Amino acid sequence: MDKHRQSISDKLIQPEHHDPYLKAWHQRSDTLCPQCGAAYQAGRWTWQGLINAATAEEAVCPACQRIAEDVPAGTISLRGDFVKQHSDELCGLIRNTEEMEKSQHPLERLMAISDDADGLTVTTTGLHLAQRIGHALEAAYDGDLKIHYNNEEYYVDVHWQRD
Ligand SMILES: [Zn+2]
Repeated sequence: MDKHRQSISDKLIQPEHHDPYLKAWHQRSDTLCPQCGAAYQAGRWTWQGLINAATAEEAVCPACQRIAEDVPAGTISLRGDFVKQHSDELCGLIRNTEEMEKSQHPLERLMAISDDADGLTVTTTGLHLAQRIGHALEAAYDGDLKIHYNNEEYYVDVHWQRD
């Protein structure tokens, strides 16, 4: 494994050390997001709530913050004739993939699916969901998948094409 690939895998193993939206959270005590109900405890985000909800702080979670500021961590571009002919089906797969990922990882969410002249463009609050959607598309429909990580920022660009 060369140095470049090594830095990518480090990023995937410990994304919280790189995501600027998570940095400020390391020192925090138990917190609930008033917008989505995600709970932060002992360094983890869950949907389980908190044992001492009465004493918890309230703060908007990084995912809700990204949505409010419109700052995605991932973009998936779906291109090609197949995309235009099967957009409903593809949207279904994208939403199902989000359901699975979000149930385990509260900060991995869809932001938007937009239908444009070239195909579909999907934005996400987390790197993992964007990658998972790319792999789900390839597994279900073949096509051509390219995943590009930005090493300077916490960002992933996923491109999937089927003509
Ligand atoms: Zn939230």
